[in-house]
Amino acid sequence: MEVVEKIKKRVYTFGNKKAEGNSKMKNLLGGKGANLAEMSAIGIPVPPGFTITTEVCTEYNALGKGIVLANIKKEVEKAVLSVEKIMNAKFGDSENPLLLSVRSGARVSMPGMMDTVLNLGLNDKVVVGLAKKTNNERFAWDSYRRFVQMYGGVVLGMKPKSKTDIDPFEEIIENLKEKRGIQLDTEFTVQDLKDLVFDFKKAVYHRLGKEFPSNPWDQLWMAIIAVFDSWNGKRAIYYRNMHGYPADWGTAVNVQAMVFGNMGLNSGTGVCFTRDAGTGEDMFNGEYLINAQGEDVVAGVRTPQQVTKLGSQRWADLAQVTEKLRINNYPSLEELMPEIFDELNEYQQLLEEHYKDMQDMEFTIQEGKLWILQTRNGKRTGAAMVKIAIDLIKEGLISEEEALLRIDPNKLDELLHPVFDPNALKDAHIIAQGLPASPGAATGQIVFFADEVAKFKNSILVRIETSPEDLEGMNLAKGILTARGGMTSHAAVVARGIGKCCVSGAGALKIDYKDRSMFVDGKEYHEGDWISLNGSTGNIIDGKVATKEPELTGEFGDIMELADKFATMKVRTNADTPKDASIAKNFGAEGIGLTRTEHMFFEVDRIKAMREMILADTVKGRKLALAKLLPMQREDFEGIFKAMQGLPVTIRLLDPPLHEFVPHQLATLKELADEMHISLDSVKVKVSELEEFNPMLGHRGCRLGTTYPEITEMQTRAIIEAALNLKKEGIEAKPEIMIPLVGTFDEFVFQENVIRETAEAVFEERQDKIDFSVGTMIEVPRATLIADKIAERADFFSFGTNDLTQMTYGYSRDDAGKFLPDYLEKGILKNDPFEVLDQEGVGQLVHIGITRGRSTKPNLKVGICGEHGGEPSSVAFCYNNGMDYVSCSPYRVPIARVASAQAALKATLN
Ligand code: PEP
Ligand code: MG
Repeated sequence: MEVVEKIKKRVYTFGNKKAEGNSKMKNLLGGKGANLAEMSAIGIPVPPGFTITTEVCTEYNALGKGIVLANIKKEVEKAVLSVEKIMNAKFGDSENPLLLSVRSGARVSMPGMMDTVLNLGLNDKVVVGLAKKTNNERFAWDSYRRFVQMYGGVVLGMKPKSKTDIDPFEEIIENLKEKRGIQLDTEFTVQDLKDLVFDFKKAVYHRLGKEFPSNPWDQLWMAIIAVFDSWNGKRAIYYRNMHGYPADWGTAVNVQAMVFGNMGLNSGTGVCFTRDAGTGEDMFNGEYLINAQGEDVVAGVRTPQQVTKLGSQRWADLAQVTEKLRINNYPSLEELMPEIFDELNEYQQLLEEHYKDMQDMEFTIQEGKLWILQTRNGKRTGAAMVKIAIDLIKEGLISEEEALLRIDPNKLDELLHPVFDPNALKDAHIIAQGLPASPGAATGQIVFFADEVAKFKNSILVRIETSPEDLEGMNLAKGILTARGGMTSHAAVVARGIGKCCVSGAGALKIDYKDRSMFVDGKEYHEGDWISLNGSTGNIIDGKVATKEPELTGEFGDIMELADKFATMKVRTNADTPKDASIAKNFGAEGIGLTRTEHMFFEVDRIKAMREMILADTVKGRKLALAKLLPMQREDFEGIFKAMQGLPVTIRLLDPPLHEFVPHQLATLKELADEMHISLDSVKVKVSELEEFNPMLGHRGCRLGTTYPEITEMQTRAIIEAALNLKKEGIEAKPEIMIPLVGTFDEFVFQENVIRETAEAVFEERQDKIDFSVGTMIEVPRATLIADKIAERADFFSFGTNDLTQMTYGYSRDDAGKFLPDYLEKGILKNDPFEVLDQEGVGQLVHIGITRGRSTKPNLKVGICGEHGGEPSSVAFCYNNGMDYVSCSPYRVPIARVASAQAALKATLN
């Protein structure tokens, strides 16, 4: 039985300067639908249409096609009628036909991840009517063959069967071109186009055993369903998982009157940005093609022209095109159609002012009339994000608070990574030049297929052009290089979105997929050969090029200053060496939240003494080995204290299971036996005694210090002596000694006593003192529950959410990689809990730990030093739970600073 609900509104119309929706309704209408409604309402000429809500997509997933189509039927029919009235044409009519586009549109933009059908409503009769109405038979048949091809691919699933196959429709096109001895689509005659439609439909019948649907309404219903289906397509699911978007958001479907950019030389289509999406420069820019449809620009099949004259001149410089050639063959829209350009320029200003952010717009010119098809906040690189935010404050468009909240902290990462070393670049041999599509530096081995990127550790994906199927490989590659396509091609847009270095449209490359080779600059390059890309200049370089640390721009500093202005929770760093400590300090770290002392033991001369200590039979033997380690540790700590110049430094006592330090190869075991003057066999026995079934739950953390208090003693001595040595030099050191893996009160007290007694002994010897504190990691679930008791003695808590996550879920940190990907793919987990703090479960324990700890000691200092300390949503959680600081790896310090400020701002806004 079909349930037809009547009350709920499922379809929202727009057009003719009116709209039922607005830009605030993104969750219901999707980003595209909400913006189309908003644009229409503020007087921007958008082709009229309607949006079927995201709720209908969810209904479709739950209830299926029959019920959903019944639910929307009346509303859709009414909405089509209103479009017909505005356009003064009729859907499916053979005299005066209206054609429609059907597009997806989720609440966030997912470029190219879902499906679109254009020119819907054509059949053998309607095409004749369209030819008559437009007086352009070629255009009508070209639209029809494009429609059959697109509908065949998207709705009927006529796609290539294997990755080296070409699209079945493209194959027919190629065959015809060969037969006719032509190269370009534009050279087809009307009869050719008619033949193509006929052959396409024949191919559909041949593959699917049924006719291509000729009833326009059937076409529409099936296209709507296909768009809903594409929400659960492979590409969309991968993209959602990558960004952590939930499956239950669903996509809206936007149905709009078609407008045509391919109706002749006074028509065209393009994409433009109100500012430069790569650098953030305040420069209107974009690309267009005359006599083309939208997908021609994005697919990168023809070289697009620039919208502005300045942009066109800059492009010509890079592409080494002379001014004369540029004016004749590639004029800007500003020069070619000055009136249309002025109108477009007016709209871009209006839209940027209206949305108070950089806009990414699509437009079509149909026989001299400009239509705006879409606007959205433009995707941008990390550098552009920072510059635009600061510029918009300066221009008075947004406040400091708004600017800071607009920063995507994770995107700052792009600014913090290496660039090419200018010295190495001097000797670089440039083999070709493409467009600087997405900045950064990349060096890697050539791979020609996206699903083979993982073949090499550092791969450069080289393609003629990319398509949405390539997303996964693009994400894994170090850089992307395409032979075709402009700054708005798929490769360029996606690369900028994911912060990946990309050079596009390098026309000099001759790529041969079958042979897995590319020919350029007189040389053949094969899969596995090294090349380098400069995404900021478009240079393609032979071989490897050395990279160096980036220099941060003025605007980056401005953003950091703003972050400090609003942040209350501090950001520290996890650093084990003076070098890491200095990097972090330069990024603004306000102390060290975790020094893992064990990392210092892995250096060659130290590991030997460490092994002697581990394998010693007696306390005396162990103390002898520890005495060798003491001066080395002391020196390490001096270096770190110096680098931090008086800022607090939390040093954690030895934590990992001891078997991590002993050798397992025979030769090294023998060496060790010789050095310790014992037999190989007894070394082997000792090593095997250290083996554990669950080392992460075994003899580690403070359990080591309990069995071997002399280790705690040696480390405390090294810390205190280092601080006293520096005091003599006039340098302040603020050590905070941290005990790992505490689960019981007495465990803590036992270690604390050893630490305090050792410190007193050193003070006595040196006849000098420093201040220090003794605190604990909170990383065993039990510790969170008895936090009130532990806080009676502990000076501070630092949440070790790596172990806390491991022990709360019961997922081994070392083995979870085997099954977590399945959990993510099946949607059982939304995020990897070792990356993004599980606020629902682990978060409760953190909350309990803080609340109970502070019930005993209201001013108890609390921080986090697990990996989550540099992940923005986890940082917000830490702020909301009253932590004093988060601690993260040096390169994530700026990210955490912005996330901390954002959390504080959001709290004041609520
Ligand atoms: C933790 O467990 O969160 C932590 C910081 O310690 P480690 O990762 O060294 O176990
Ligand atoms: Mg730990």
